Amino acid sequence: MPMTFSQYDDPTGVYTHKASTGGYIFKSEAEARERCAAWNEWAAAMDTLDSLPNVLTRTDYENVCQKLNAPLMTDADCGNYGVQFGDFGPWEYTAEYCVKMALAKRRLREIEAAKIAPEPISRPYPPKKTGQLWEECPHCGSEPVYMPLNLCGACWPK
Ligand SMILES: [Zn+2]
Repeated sequence: MPMTFSQYDDPTGVYTHKASTGGYIFKSEAEARERCAAWNEWAAAMDTLDSLPNVLTRTDYENVCQKLNAPLMTDADCGNYGVQFGDFGPWEYTAEYCVKMALAKRRLREIEAAKIAPEPISRPYPPKKTGQLWEECPHCGSEPVYMPLNLCGACWPK
């Protein structure tokens, strides 16, 4: 929602400027205009991200960065503290920077998801040999075979 401002008579009787989105009081019209413009530029930039998936593969990430003219970050940089925990608001950061970090965050989600993907189930250990019999192995005919599978050492599962 675009932010506008209006004159506002605060309880002390001093005229200030209040943002239409609520929560912000500006001390002068110049500050109000500047902040509203920054907010609106940021909000428009964030709107362009709405149609994107929340999780981006490397290929999708590179395509989106190119389309939006956002600087590319390496996968390693996408995992940095700022991307993980940063809160990028319209008044401290440029809209371009907020877009860059928002895209990196979507890239990071895929990297993190790949990290916690379950490991392939490892094969169970083969049964322990519990005793030996002088019999022919049913697979290859050599002796002896071992219990409980009654297979020779060469045919025993590894
Ligand atoms: Zn055998």
